[in-house]
Amino acid sequence: MAKRISILGSTGSIGCQTLDVIKDYPEEFQVLALTGRKNVSLLAQQVKTFQPELAVLTDPEAARQLSRLLHGQTTRVLAGEEGLLAAATYPGTDLLVTAVVGFAGLKPTLAAIDAGIDIALANKETLVTAGSIVMQRARERKVDIIPIDSEHSAIFQCLQGNEPGDLQRIMLTASGGPFRNYSKEELAGVSPEQALKHPNWSMGAKITVDSATMMNKGLEVLEAHWLFPLPLTSIEVLVHPQSVVHSLIEFKDGSILAQLGPPDMRFPILYSLTYPKRWSNNLPKLDLVGRELAFTAPDLERFPCLAYAYEAGEKGGTMPTVVNAANEMAVAAFLQKKIGFLDIPRVIRQVMDLHQVRKNPDLDAIFSADTWARQETQGIIRTISGIS
Ligand code: NAD
Ligand code: MG
Repeated sequence: MAKRISILGSTGSIGCQTLDVIKDYPEEFQVLALTGRKNVSLLAQQVKTFQPELAVLTDPEAARQLSRLLHGQTTRVLAGEEGLLAAATYPGTDLLVTAVVGFAGLKPTLAAIDAGIDIALANKETLVTAGSIVMQRARERKVDIIPIDSEHSAIFQCLQGNEPGDLQRIMLTASGGPFRNYSKEELAGVSPEQALKHPNWSMGAKITVDSATMMNKGLEVLEAHWLFPLPLTSIEVLVHPQSVVHSLIEFKDGSILAQLGPPDMRFPILYSLTYPKRWSNNLPKLDLVGRELAFTAPDLERFPCLAYAYEAGEKGGTMPTVVNAANEMAVAAFLQKKIGFLDIPRVIRQVMDLHQVRKNPDLDAIFSADTWARQETQGIIRTISGIS
């Protein structure tokens, strides 16, 4: 029987690449539910190709347009957060790919876990903000959380056949982003257009800016801390500009395993869909002949976001939620040219300094911390951009 897949955020970078993988295996996969925010034409096209039972656009006007376009077809159309939750918990789903961006992914991911649906997780912000609650619920419901993020997929793959308890150190690789060799002065002047040109990966706007500030790697350190049983002090970052080694793990005997591949998200996406099996595919394979692979330590002075993420993880409680919210707002303001590139870490630092950490937060406390941080960040951004 075909594996039944639903995708939250099917109109985004990861969502589209997931469908690109799925289309090569029409017998093996069936698509049940797809969601986007407001891209009517792309979702309509995906519905035509994959014939899901449910299509959701969270923007109500966009959902009305989609409904009109799909009139007479069998695919149901829903709108809003209600629609997103219906897609996340769609009856009969074997695996839910969570590929929405940001904090918006938390609620539907938790709903899917509560419904006993296995998760292929791309939305790292879910684990950053509420890792302890998400992982505990997944354990209780015996739900698998299979990472899609390439670094975490690499670690997950290296761990197969090994004892998680024998793991001693994680080395997360980072490309270093487009500004790896920029001085502080040069960083001050970079534009959104420059930040959106990643040297190795093609991704959505928010994660591309996160890669340029290295906040992406900070979020990934916190993501790794929840997925794998190691303290933050045993999770290191290695700058590896070629993005060929996707991460490395060291066992207690000192032996290191790494996973390699081309910088193409369709590899970790495919593995998350076929786990624990491996399937042949037509993706371009890696040729290592003549390739040089380099590794250096990250520069926390020029890329303070990475240090802030570690600090947030050490402080724990609501602090990672606050850093995530401040980052989402700051990145959006940078993309709208309201603040400069170096204002992103500045804004995050200020919000962190204002926050009083709440330990062992429940879900309500996490949502309150997120709302609080967004309000504070908005105020700070207004001051910087001179809008009052
Ligand atoms: P994207 O911006 O390209 O796509 C985001 C998707 O989510 C779109 O379908 C969009 O319509 C939807 N969406 C956005 N805001 C929403 C909201 N408030 N409510 C409901 N839906 C919403 O992003 P992406 O690059 O595909 O990244 C998705 C997630 O995967 C992020 O958490 C990112 O960190 C993670 N990730 C991405 C990559 C990559 O290569 N793109 C790699 C690793 C991890
Ligand atoms: Mg990654």
